Amino acid sequence: MQVTRHPLLSPAPGTQRELVSLHYGQPGSAAGKAYLQASLHADELPGMLVAYHLRQQLDALDAAGQVTGEIVLVPMANPIGLSQHLLHLHLGRFEQTTGENFNRHYPDQIAAAADAAAPELGADAAANVASLRRALKAAVTAAPVETELQSLRRTLMGLSCDADIVLDLHCDAQALMHLYTETPCWPDCEPLARFLGARVTLLAQDSGDNPFDEACSQVWWKWAKHFGDKHPIPQACMSVTVELRGATDVTHELAAADAKNIIDFLRWRGLIAGDKPALPAPQGEARPLAGSMPIYAPKPGVLTFLKEVGAEVKAGEVLAHVIDPITAEVTELKSPVDGLLFARDFLRFAFAGMRVAKVSGREAKRTGKLLGA
Ligand SMILES: [Zn+2]
Repeated sequence: MQVTRHPLLSPAPGTQRELVSLHYGQPGSAAGKAYLQASLHADELPGMLVAYHLRQQLDALDAAGQVTGEIVLVPMANPIGLSQHLLHLHLGRFEQTTGENFNRHYPDQIAAAADAAAPELGADAAANVASLRRALKAAVTAAPVETELQSLRRTLMGLSCDADIVLDLHCDAQALMHLYTETPCWPDCEPLARFLGARVTLLAQDSGDNPFDEACSQVWWKWAKHFGDKHPIPQACMSVTVELRGATDVTHELAAADAKNIIDFLRWRGLIAGDKPALPAPQGEARPLAGSMPIYAPKPGVLTFLKEVGAEVKAGEVLAHVIDPITAEVTELKSPVDGLLFARDFLRFAFAGMRVAKVSGREAKRTGKLLGA
């Protein structure tokens, strides 16, 4: 295993942060490349503990000569966010300087890479993939950056943009294990959902503002569209945001099991030697992200839930009460659809207009940008 340190652009004299990546196996291996990163939202800690357990398991596999693919593990993807605290609260989702979400606005080099690779493309899909990856990596690493945040995004994209498998480990506030991926990735993601025991996988295409996972996967279906019938371009990257339940689900038991399930998936995909593990039975299904319905509190007050995460609910069913302590008025928060209550907030005071839970329905109902702040 090799440890690589990537210095970020220094935001002020005397300060310098770095991103650290761990490299297992052989670059350019025919078995393919997997890129795994934890805690891009720096206050989402389950992924960091899963990365710790992944590292133990990968070290052992490495020592036994069993890592046949290339596996890159970034155990802490956001050194900027890890250092942001305000009044004793950890603020790891948005950069304090710009207010930008650390998981949005990944650079788009799709056109530049397409132009650079075009003269090399032909009828061989695998050769096209190799050419486009080379061109994309060159375009990503050559792009100028002006801020520390931009240099973090460039570094993460540079490490991941040529991978076959990208797993971005996040969590929700209180939630079931669930996944986000682009619709063209679903056939490759379905086995991962089984290994991880995901209760729901939310599918969208170009959901808006370029989150990390979509920046990695969208290049392929956009290039396929761009080149049309001229050259075969497969969906060569399966990129997934893995929501490792809730923010306080940070236990060795869960993390060791999640790490083992990820290793089993990588072995199933052939990046680790040994017999393919049997595919577990699915614990859930894919549903449209546009059918994931936010539950808003129209009035402020004390929030108390009547339903736990994991509840299958009906349209009109009351999920929570918001209670005005002055007037004793009770506002019922109802599900707008039949679906799975898969995530809810951990705060118990709701401000007016606050999104407090999410119910995953089967029908796409929303339009426009599909991700929350
Ligand atoms: Zn997150």
